[in-house]
Amino acid sequence: MMAENMVNVETRVAQLLQELTGSPDVNSYVAGELAPGTGHTLELTDPATGDVFARYKDAGAEVVSRAAEAAQRAQQEWMSKTASERGRIMFEIGRQIRAHATSLSELEALSSGRPIRDAGGEPARMAEMFEYYAGWCDKITGDVIPVPSTHLNYTRHEPLGVVSQITPWNAPLFTCCWQVAPAICAGNAVMIKPSELTPLSSVVIGILCEKAGAPKGLVNVIAGDGPVSGQAMIDHPATALVVFVGSAQAGSLIAAAAAKRLIPSVLELGGKSANIVFADADIDRAIVGAQAAIFASCGQSCVAGSRLLVHRSIQAEVVGKLADAAGRIPVGAPMDPATQVGPVNNLRQWSKIDAMVKEAVSQGASITSGGAKPADLSRSEGFYYAPTVVDNVTPDMTIANEEVFGPVVSVLPFDDEEEAITLANATPYGLAGAVWTQDVGRAHRVAAKVRAGTFWINSYKTINVMSPFGGFGRSGYGRSSGREALAAYTQTKSVWVETAENPVQGFGYAPG
Ligand code: NAD
Repeated sequence: MMAENMVNVETRVAQLLQELTGSPDVNSYVAGELAPGTGHTLELTDPATGDVFARYKDAGAEVVSRAAEAAQRAQQEWMSKTASERGRIMFEIGRQIRAHATSLSELEALSSGRPIRDAGGEPARMAEMFEYYAGWCDKITGDVIPVPSTHLNYTRHEPLGVVSQITPWNAPLFTCCWQVAPAICAGNAVMIKPSELTPLSSVVIGILCEKAGAPKGLVNVIAGDGPVSGQAMIDHPATALVVFVGSAQAGSLIAAAAAKRLIPSVLELGGKSANIVFADADIDRAIVGAQAAIFASCGQSCVAGSRLLVHRSIQAEVVGKLADAAGRIPVGAPMDPATQVGPVNNLRQWSKIDAMVKEAVSQGASITSGGAKPADLSRSEGFYYAPTVVDNVTPDMTIANEEVFGPVVSVLPFDDEEEAITLANATPYGLAGAVWTQDVGRAHRVAAKVRAGTFWINSYKTINVMSPFGGFGRSGYGRSSGREALAAYTQTKSVWVETAENPVQGFGYAPG
């Protein structure tokens, strides 16, 4: 297995940045221009080698302030266009992404560690996000309400203004487009701060939006860290909504900071999703699904099926087959086309994964596959972790309750449907889940009773921009895709027009 990318990552990333942004350096993108940071120095590390390949300065409050002012101006300009014009520009953003797909996906793979076989398919999906919302631009309509008076009463769904979005490192390009497309469709301008570990592809998206005809400053990308640049975005008076994708810990701080300013927030947080396999399931299909659920993206996926709940009668068969399959998954460098599981994005995350696995073992769990760096990559300095199956997990263990965010699945047995549902709902999270069964009644009963924002029946992991996505419980609130995202990104105004020739003057129904 190829352990390292066969190119010099520092040189290649600089070439790709030159091609896609016009500069080999890491910058923010503000008011239609590349903007160097003003703060402390941050480093970008190649997950496949552990080597630093770029350094840049945190954007800082002054750059954020310029972005906010540009966003306010751009939002006015954006809304002065007709809805159809905005739709055409959004459609063109999709075309621009497709036109730069090869370089964009290489940049994403090299800088984030996503295998090229995943990153390579992403630009087409990113383009679809803008194309889908392009179609919504001229369909955001209000209602006429049959009020019991002489008034004509109608509603308008108006943009909030400037939206601040903060995203994590696990799927930077995907998450950037997933958030930006509905925000601008609804008529807002955006300041988006990708993770300080993976800012590059989001900067390119900001540039492509403008190439497609969006006003300068409609999409500003802040390259910087959370507590400084992210906080400055939330605190800026122009920010009217905060959309956060990341950990529950940071989400709680960010929601509190937004609440302090009395502005709303949308939170897309982590999960501890249950993938439930009944004895009547098509076991082989369920095992393929269980691998996709936890090993795709090296388990660094918010919807990862990190808890495999298996009927006790098939536990040994499922664990045996899954462990065997896990041991055969090609783990390797992101740019190797054979790689299915790449490195973990960063050393801190690798250490967290390893510590959680070791803790589970010390509490009595057993490893049936993986549990360490793959043997054939043991000499690599890259952040590789073998696809890992942990059996004999009990509901009280940390690994059964806390997000690992790595290629590690915990297996817990159950004896009947009621226990499966109880176990599935036993964590405070509620992002996703799945059930594998051939009993159609059971499938729908379980889907109705598991607390999760997304649920699959005899499937796992499919999401699409057309369908609402978001969490229940500790996994967050608000929806950031589908038609429902447009509700989060607009505010409703009720307009009353007196139509009577000689209206009766009075105090009407007004409260207070
Ligand atoms: P994180 O919470 O550490 O960081 C996410 C973002 O928040 C980064 O841009 C970071 O710079 C910023 N940030 C951190 N602290 C901040 C603060 N005090 N003020 C302002 N900004 C701050 O998360 P991570 O480690 O980058 O990503 C992993 C987490 O993201 C996992 O929990 C995963 O489940 C979650 N996630 C959720 C979804 C979803 O849609 N539900 C999608 C992807 C990832």
